[in-house]
Amino acid sequence: MQYFEPNFVDEALVLLDRFGSGARLLAGGTRLGFALRSDPRDVAALINLKRIRELERVEERDGTLRIGALVTAQRIATTPVIREHAPLLARAAGSMGARQLRSIATVGGNICSGDPASDLVVALVACGARCEIAGVEEPSRVLPLERWLDERATGVQAKELIGWVHVPVTQHVAAYEKMTQRRAFEMALVAVAFRAQREGAALRDVRIALGGVGPAVLRARGAEAVLSGAPLSAASAREAARTAAERDARPRDDARASAEYRRHLVTTLVERAIRNACGDIAGIAS
Ligand SMILES: Cc1cc2nc3c(=O)[nH]c(=O)nc-3n(C[C@H](O)[C@H](O)[C@H](O)COP(=O)(O)OP(=O)(O)OC[C@H]3O[C@@H](n4cnc5c(N)ncnc54)[C@H](O)[C@@H]3O)c2cc1C
Repeated sequence: MQYFEPNFVDEALVLLDRFGSGARLLAGGTRLGFALRSDPRDVAALINLKRIRELERVEERDGTLRIGALVTAQRIATTPVIREHAPLLARAAGSMGARQLRSIATVGGNICSGDPASDLVVALVACGARCEIAGVEEPSRVLPLERWLDERATGVQAKELIGWVHVPVTQHVAAYEKMTQRRAFEMALVAVAFRAQREGAALRDVRIALGGVGPAVLRARGAEAVLSGAPLSAASAREAARTAAERDARPRDDARASAEYRRHLVTTLVERAIRNACGDIAGIAS
């Protein structure tokens, strides 16, 4: 296995092109490290992204927060401009693993790990984030994170990397809720991100993302429809939570929890997220 430390995105792309399916991009290594140790056979080149300074930048411009793929969970949790404009993302980042993990786990790695309960992905999907992708075959393209996750799920291993994540800056209310068996060193059993715009007692542009209850992070579109446009009430919050659990979530039994328990968690966490985000609306506060 050959090892490379490119200084620029273009250099990394040249290496991706040269080694094709034998190339692996390395960011924090918290996921890839395990995979390489357990089965390094097919890996011809390890391309460590850590020297690519432009991928470490965080900037806010023209109503968009642009976060480099190498930005760590710890930086996302503590950087003032992210905390101000994307508090949901900052909260999700602060909830990840333990501090040792947060200090090295990157947002690019979190997205590309393909885990259905990745905290940053759950929050980013609720934020309506877009990915800026740099590729060998076509110049950089920007597309909704959800679409890119769908593309990856088809199994096509493109010669491209995530360069930046774009998060739209809007006035909104938001909450992040998750359930784990232990407080640290563990993925969520279920995670819920809620984000919406307020118009008096009504909500619009409601986005709810669910982690841990399907093959990938899911949008709870049924629950979003229940809340969109109508005045929020304790009853509609409950109805949305029920819809998320019964219609939107697609959990399966596994070694950590039954599908039934995960559905129960969705009901509880979606209702809790709505209450926490919109607690000042009459009748909603817990
Ligand atoms: C003990 C433990 C606890 C954990 N707890 C949590 C948790 O609470 N919440 C959570 O969400 N996750 C958790 N994780 C999972 C993991 O830490 C995260 O998914 C992390 O963000 C991965 O980032 P990384 O930089 O370490 O990625 P790496 O391991 O370096 O890479 C992961 C994958 O992404 C690819 N990749 C990396 N960067 C890019 C890029 N820019 N473009 C294209 N592909 C790229 C790599 O090739 C690899 O396939 C945990 C992991 C461990 C080991």
